[in-house]
Amino acid sequence: MNIFSPDLFRQQFPALKEKTIYLDSAATALKPLAMIEASDAFYRHNFATVHRSQYQHAKETTQQYEATRQQVAELINSADSDTIIWTKGTTESLNFIAQGYFRPRLQAGDEIIVSEQEHHANLIPWLILAEQTGARVIRWAIEDHFLPSINSLNALINKRTRIVAVSQMSNVTGAQIALDKVSQCVHQYDNCLLVVDGAQGIAHHPTDVTAFDIDFYVFSAHKLYGPNGLGICYGKRKHLEDMAPWHGGGKMLTNATFDGFTPAPIPQRFEAGTPNVAGVIAFSATLAWLEKQDMHHANQYALELAEEAERRLSELNGFISYRASNSSIVSFNFEGVHHSDLATLITEKGIALRTGQHCAQPLIDSLNISGCLRISFMPYNQLSDIDAFIDAVIFALTLLKDE
Ligand code: PMP
Repeated sequence: MNIFSPDLFRQQFPALKEKTIYLDSAATALKPLAMIEASDAFYRHNFATVHRSQYQHAKETTQQYEATRQQVAELINSADSDTIIWTKGTTESLNFIAQGYFRPRLQAGDEIIVSEQEHHANLIPWLILAEQTGARVIRWAIEDHFLPSINSLNALINKRTRIVAVSQMSNVTGAQIALDKVSQCVHQYDNCLLVVDGAQGIAHHPTDVTAFDIDFYVFSAHKLYGPNGLGICYGKRKHLEDMAPWHGGGKMLTNATFDGFTPAPIPQRFEAGTPNVAGVIAFSATLAWLEKQDMHHANQYALELAEEAERRLSELNGFISYRASNSSIVSFNFEGVHHSDLATLITEKGIALRTGQHCAQPLIDSLNISGCLRISFMPYNQLSDIDAFIDAVIFALTLLKDE
């Protein structure tokens, strides 16, 4: 049964009261009241940090903080909440995996397959790692429907391949790869691990790290209606337990002398220093709120909006779409018009969108363009946003064509 109500959903997002029409959710999602109020309440009524002090507030905060790991584990279907490591975001999670897990394990001649659709966050850490270890980064090119193909992966992968890094959903085209097929291909080789960037995918599709046999899965809370500055790194227990601490400092050890230290068990081993307690507590409220929404139908509605936006755009002369099927993101250009000129004029009409290379330069290069505009939809958008946007596009195109 569909219990999603666009109006009720929208009412939970106070930022929508601002005049801007927000079509930039792929950059960051707006925040529901549940998250804002939890963050406010934490700073107003609480003050404790975690895993350190004995007083009541501190103990309760520690419990809540740890319970949030369990909520995240359930969200991505990990049976074990110790496999959830808090970081600052997707970017930090990927650097953590590259430097913490792989750096001591890679050697010259090893290969890292990276898809061409990746955000720089899932490319640069591998390039840095390759430079440090003598490994090689291998490009897994996109083909039809803006996707890299499983056949090509099969042709590239071999016994030297140690890592296959791919995003669940592209932040430009919205293309979503079949993770089960990628995983099957990767796990033909015992020595090869699958790293999945879930930064975009997490907001649109539930992910199952167990069913897809994913070795590392990462995302940022802020793209899933949660707070800024909080990221998640899931890793299989055996990988995390094999991994030495990445950062040193308070609370990541069980014993310290001038001769050395004993690392704490996972996950604390990787969380040196005072963590983002308020962020975790606010994310807990976000996840509890999400549980109560009919996100299946909500996300379906966001997809329909994207489809409608693309349809309306395609009625205008010169429209070029870079939207993959089933994507809530619509990236586009107009023939003979520079993307940033168009974006500047559209923005003047109070529309929030993004233009440029979207931190995915290899993908933009493969499309043979210098950049493109991007609009992205969440279930808090509505048809009238599309009307306003299309009016702004027509206004901008008319001005630019008159020049
Ligand atoms: N990967 C993808 C696919 C993204 O869209 C983003 C954010 N634009 C990132 C990684 C990086 O996320 P963050 O900036 O939150 O670390």
